[in-house]
Amino acid sequence: MSIRVETDDSIDIVDVTDQVAAAVPDIEDGVCTVFVNHTTAAVSINEAEPQLLTDIKQFVETLSASDDWAHDALDGNADAHLRTSLLGRSISVPIRNGELALGTWQSILLIECDGPRTRSLTVTTVPAV
Ligand code: ZN
Repeated sequence: MSIRVETDDSIDIVDVTDQVAAAVPDIEDGVCTVFVNHTTAAVSINEAEPQLLTDIKQFVETLSASDDWAHDALDGNADAHLRTSLLGRSISVPIRNGELALGTWQSILLIECDGPRTRSLTVTTVPAV
């Protein structure tokens, strides 16, 4: 199943936990993976506390300084590609008793590195055997 997400800024964070939970079919136990279908957006799990989200955005900016990257000659967004290479493009979450087994403070976050754009996430679930 795919989820579409609109981002609002060049670097942005969107809490997609509820959308992912809604995409999980009715299985008791298993695993859910969330994969970002892009090269300049990432997915992570962290606390969706507003001040922390501000800190994460600031931190993401420091992951790659604007510089004279070779890829910039093509489309000017090498820093976004480099940032998402470090942040990662998929996560997995256990499913227990029909629910995403996230910790109390854990949320699934789409991290935009070259927005604003419309992004697509693929949610795949595998039942435990
Ligand atoms: Zn590019």
